Order: sequence, then C-alpha cells, then structure tokens
Amino acid sequence: MRLGFHVSISGGFSLAVQRAHELGCNCMQIFSRNPRGWTVKPIDPADAAEFKKLREQWDIGPVFVHTNYLINLASPKPDLFERSIEQFVIDLERTEKLGAEYLVTHLGSASGREPEWMIERVTVALNMAMKLHKPSAVILLENTAGEKGDVGYELQQVQDVIAGLAHSENIGICYDTCHGFAAGYDIRTPAGVEALAKEISTTVGADRLKGIHLNDCLKEFASRVDRHWHIGEGKIGEDGFRAFLAHPLFRHVPKIMETPKETDEDDPRNLKKVRSLQKK
Ligand SMILES: [Zn+2]
Ligand SMILES: [Zn+2]
Repeated sequence: MRLGFHVSISGGFSLAVQRAHELGCNCMQIFSRNPRGWTVKPIDPADAAEFKKLREQWDIGPVFVHTNYLINLASPKPDLFERSIEQFVIDLERTEKLGAEYLVTHLGSASGREPEWMIERVTVALNMAMKLHKPSAVILLENTAGEKGDVGYELQQVQDVIAGLAHSENIGICYDTCHGFAAGYDIRTPAGVEALAKEISTTVGADRLKGIHLNDCLKEFASRVDRHWHIGEGKIGEDGFRAFLAHPLFRHVPKIMETPKETDEDDPRNLKKVRSLQKK
C-alpha cells in the first residue's frame, strides 16, 4: 500500500521529498507554493531535478500536489473567479514541472447559492482552465465536508461536474474520509464502507478513484464540520479504518494523511497506526 503525508516544502521541493522519506512514506502530498498567498516564485530547475531524482531513488510516488487555498472555482465574484482559474492553471503547470502525477482541488464554495449553481460554475472554471492549459497531470476533485457553502459534499455533485466537462480523460477523484464522514458517509462499519464503495462506483465510477485523504474526524458524524484528527482517535475510530482499509475498492489506492502535526511524534504514530489496522 502506498501511504504518506502532506509534507512541508519549506526550503525547497528536494527537502520535501527528504522529509517524506525520513518519515517512511512511499507517496506524498505537497503544495506547489505558499498555499495562502497569490505570489509565486518560479520553480528552481535544479531543485525540481533533485526532487525528481530523489523520489525515484527512494521510490516515492505518486506525488499529489494540493491547490492553493485561495482558489475558489465556484466564486460568485467575477474577479475572484477569474483569478482562481488563472491560479489553478499556475498550480497545474507547477505540478507538471515537478513531474507530479496529480493535482488535488476542492470544488469551491458560494454561500447562499444552490449546489446546482455552484456545480455549473465549477464546470465552467475547469473547462476554461483545461482550455488554457491542456493537462498532462491528472486533476483530482476532492469531496468536501459541506461547510460554509461548500459544494462537492455529495459524490453525485462531483459526478455532475465531471459530466459537464468537455474533456474528462485527465479527471479523477480524491476521497477524503474526514470530509465524507462529516458530510454523511458513515464508514464506522463494514456495511457503511460497502455502501460508500457502491456509491463511488455508481456515481463517479471506481476507475476515477486515484487518491484517498486518510483522516479521522474530530467532530460528530454528519456534523458538516471539517476537523481532521489522528487515525483511530476520532469519531471514525479504529474499527472504521480497519473496515475501510480492508475493502477491495480502497485497499490499493494511494493514501495521504493530512492529520494534525502538533509534535514530531504525531506523523510516526499515525503511520504506525494505519499499518497496524491494515494488518488487523
Ligand atoms: Zn483532504
Ligand atoms: Zn479537510
């Protein structure tokens, strides 16, 4: 099983891959730049080359890049909407420059608007972005917890976006277990995990599932509140993750943890926990 963390790119991309390797990851996720700002420094070609060399040497892959947090592909504000498309394209280009396989994005949010309106908006944004830059990396749409006007909390909404795209060969999904649980997908039992697997298969299709964000959830089931927590220590719990990790649809999909990093012990503990739950 491919298992890793979201790691910091502070000091350069080659340091990020080093961090992943030292933690014992065999896949990883990064931002391509400061996730909370619009400014972008060009990627240093030497750093990118080193990044590629090291991940090959240590067999770390796939690499997921997560889009900038300011991007909102469903924004009702014309200026932010346009800027989001431009910035999404920048993230996509940087993903490809790094030789990363996947760019993960949330769909977006628009408080007070109907999901249908947002789905249409995101579809327009993605079509425009892919027209500006034909992707060679695969774009992964991530399900959300359904907080504050977010869209994409139901798998059918994600599928509705995909169905509206002019080109969907380079489109997949990244399923976040915390977001899904907060949005009403109960994976605490094998029957719940089976129901989720069935819903993925009948909406977006199993083939589109390329990545999993493996996070426990601090808040109650269906709370619509997105608070990631340590694996097995949240409301999904050990039994839920044991069932999830054992399911044939999820077992072989690369998994990235976005769990809290309060101390240096947190990542090693979560990694160990997932491995133990997987072995039973
Ligand atoms: Zn996530
Ligand atoms: Zn989240």
